[in-house]
Amino acid sequence: MKHGQNPNWFANSPLLRINIEEDQSAFVAERLKDPDSLVIPLWRGDPLVSGGKAAFLSAAALSEFPKVAPVALLGVMDGKAYFGVDVSAAPAPDAAPFADIGEYMNLRMAAGALPRDDIAIIGHARWLFEWHRTHLHCANCGAATDTGPSGAKRICPACETEHFPRTNPVAIVLAIHDDACLMGRGHNFPPGFVSALAGFVEAGETPEECARRELFEEAGVVIDNVQYLFSQPWPFTCSLMMGFIAEAQSRDITVDTDELAEARWIGKPDILAVLGGEERDFFLPPKFTIARQLIERWVRP
Ligand SMILES: [Zn+2]
Repeated sequence: MKHGQNPNWFANSPLLRINIEEDQSAFVAERLKDPDSLVIPLWRGDPLVSGGKAAFLSAAALSEFPKVAPVALLGVMDGKAYFGVDVSAAPAPDAAPFADIGEYMNLRMAAGALPRDDIAIIGHARWLFEWHRTHLHCANCGAATDTGPSGAKRICPACETEHFPRTNPVAIVLAIHDDACLMGRGHNFPPGFVSALAGFVEAGETPEECARRELFEEAGVVIDNVQYLFSQPWPFTCSLMMGFIAEAQSRDITVDTDELAEARWIGKPDILAVLGGEERDFFLPPKFTIARQLIERWVRP
């Protein structure tokens, strides 16, 4: 597999990352003036897409919109620097800068349509801008913070604390019992849209402990042999989704109806049928989700 052992779509960015602990202001200023540098605009997390491809523009395009900001350095590939630019200040996507070049496509749609390398780069940019958007004040003293020179950290002018992007760890678990796996559906999903169960890791907890707790809290299922498989950065919630597979002690389910609309066991033959294009009374999660990758790893190891 080209991407090594991690099959997840928001993983495996082809960019070489730049050390964000060092001051990169000179490098960023120089590369933003370099017309070979590339910029991907995002409006409220959705990338500019043109002709079925992510619209990476020459950094020279930024000069047409000198007030466009903030810009985040994402990394380097083939000697070219890659930046994300956040054009979210526009009230609507078709009023945003560069809208004449393409369309700002919902990232969930784009993730199913664009090349995987592009998705990883765009996911990184969305993740960063979402983190900036929700961390405008210093967690130490409460003052308004500034974006760091490379867009990869925030700096407090009052107490000089540097704030680096905070990842929210999530354990997502595919529980197995013989030839069936446990799938659940949240209240915000229509009937049939099931997925593996997941939850945020709490203070003082390991991801494995979180996996056991979530399965028991949400579905009353006790699991053993919790095995880590792979992870995926999830730009929609600034999370790191850590994927596990585990063995359930039984198929008894007690659904916490505050958390889930339903939970059920789905047999491997039915999953293989849906993967093969047949219809059943459920849909598998899209390929860019780690839940889908856990399911595929289980049925086609
Ligand atoms: Zn501060």
